[in-house]
Amino acid sequence: MRVSRLFFPSLRENPKEAETVSHVFMLRAGLVRKLASGIYTLLPIGYRVVKKIENIIREEMDAKGGQELFMPALQPAELWLESGRWYDYGPELMRLEDRKERTFALGPTHEEVITTLVRDNNRSYRKLPLLLYQIQVKFRDEIRPRFGVMRAREFIMKDLYSFDRDEEGMNRSYDAMYDAYCRIFKRCGLDYRVVEADSGAIGGDVSHEFMVLADTGEAEIAFCDSCGYASNLEKATDQLDPPEDAQEMDIQEVYTPNIKTIEELANFLAIDKSRTVKAVVYEAIYSGEKWNIVAAFVRGDYDINEIKLKNLLGCLYLNPATEEEVLSITPGGGGFIGPIGLKDAVVVVDESVMRMKNVVVGANKENYHLKNVNPQKDFPDDMKVADIRKVHDGSKCPKCGFPMKVRRGIEVGHIFKLGTKYSEAMNATFLDENGEKKYYVMGCYGIGVERTMAAVIEQLHDDKGIIWPMTIAPYHVIVVSVVVKDEQQRETAERIYSELINRGVEVLIDDRDESPGVKFNDADIMGIPLRVTVGKYLKEGKVELRWRRSGEVKLYSVNEIVDAVELAIKKEIDEINS
Ligand code: ATP
Ligand code: MG
Repeated sequence: MRVSRLFFPSLRENPKEAETVSHVFMLRAGLVRKLASGIYTLLPIGYRVVKKIENIIREEMDAKGGQELFMPALQPAELWLESGRWYDYGPELMRLEDRKERTFALGPTHEEVITTLVRDNNRSYRKLPLLLYQIQVKFRDEIRPRFGVMRAREFIMKDLYSFDRDEEGMNRSYDAMYDAYCRIFKRCGLDYRVVEADSGAIGGDVSHEFMVLADTGEAEIAFCDSCGYASNLEKATDQLDPPEDAQEMDIQEVYTPNIKTIEELANFLAIDKSRTVKAVVYEAIYSGEKWNIVAAFVRGDYDINEIKLKNLLGCLYLNPATEEEVLSITPGGGGFIGPIGLKDAVVVVDESVMRMKNVVVGANKENYHLKNVNPQKDFPDDMKVADIRKVHDGSKCPKCGFPMKVRRGIEVGHIFKLGTKYSEAMNATFLDENGEKKYYVMGCYGIGVERTMAAVIEQLHDDKGIIWPMTIAPYHVIVVSVVVKDEQQRETAERIYSELINRGVEVLIDDRDESPGVKFNDADIMGIPLRVTVGKYLKEGKVELRWRRSGEVKLYSVNEIVDAVELAIKKEIDEINS
């Protein structure tokens, strides 16, 4: 491809709207353009990268026996009513009506469609396991689309669904996908971690996420460098100190004027935050009209993990309670809430609190707290005790007790053991060898294609631009002649370019009448792994080969350069794929 003809509207300046490195470089190097909030066009350079990632995914899915198909984005609402997710999925589901007033969803995921398809078209155990996948556009009306294609409202996903005859089979399919995902992300050049994850709206019990460590990631993960435990913070837990065995003292009311936060309380009483109990009040909303007020309590040095709390309650939404709602359960109002004597609230207490003795809690009376409260004895009988705490940097690993790290990550892939959640809801059965009807045992496995591309940029860049790994680079090499008006340089560059094309190398030639600085900058920001520069050394019959990543430059004679380029490409691809 000739750069003079290439449609890559590059930008000299950092665009104001872009907050992350990947978003900045995707706009500046002309990979994508925004059409509307969370909706992007993939320009030629960006789309080449996307297709390469898709092909790596395809190869790895096919290697595990996956079969590619293509399902519609438009999905009848009845399917979603049947699975029960029409309401559960919430406002992220894009809904619309056709001219006959039939309701549809624009698919955010395809469990309903695939389960129906397999239910209606397969009867026997003989075809199992079935691993069906597609690479297709998804729609999610994200509350906060941001970071360019990283959190978009329309994006490409690879989604594979496994159908097995039993749990053992599902586990085998799951392990195969786990393995394939590791290979895919490695082949994309990513440094990633696999973490235990919450299953969210997709459902099921076991799931893992593939996380790329990056400060700009929206997810948080906790991991242990000693034993390898790693979990999304949504699900992570920690090892608690053993129960205290101090002498239980008598409850004492203390005057704490205007002392509303845990920090203020700990300072005021000159105690550690971990000697206090933190309270947060929520409005929990269930399907239908049902709702209630929930008061949740954790040790003062923790925060509440709202995902764990939501899963425990089985509610659809958990909103912060309003002031009136707080006043309806405690006359003391916010800041003085304690578990003793609350009215009409579901009380949920974290396990950490139950191991403490003589702690400080709100008195449910304005400007007062209670000292020397002993949870085992003094807390209400009808409370729920559970793990609802959010672990933090330094929390002890649940497996080995070593202090854990908490870091940010980008979720690029997510795999789930679904079990029979969808096959039961949608009555998808097969006949086993005894002619007995059985529910399919399913799994589902997703990768965000553009998000993977963005994650690579987050990890592999410098201040000049993107540094693509050879495996997904839009082009392997760019040929630049320094002085276009120099006929010998121009001709040599053209000859090298044609020879590379003949060898099947993906090559660009910068044949624009621009200064060398502009051309070098564009090649750098685009992240082309190799650059052949035809310039001053041509007088000696030599050209330069420059590696984008290391900045290393080697001189080759004009006769050798094509072989050298081919070898360099092969070497890097083999290294990544090995
Ligand atoms: P998140 O927690 O980031 O919203 P999710 O758990 O909703 O992700 P899944 O339903 O597991 O995502 O979707 C599978 C994959 O699709 C994700 O791992 C991610 O790579 C990608 N993905 C999900 N939502 C988006 C989005 N809004 N924009 C781009 N890619 C996305
Ligand atoms: Mg999501």
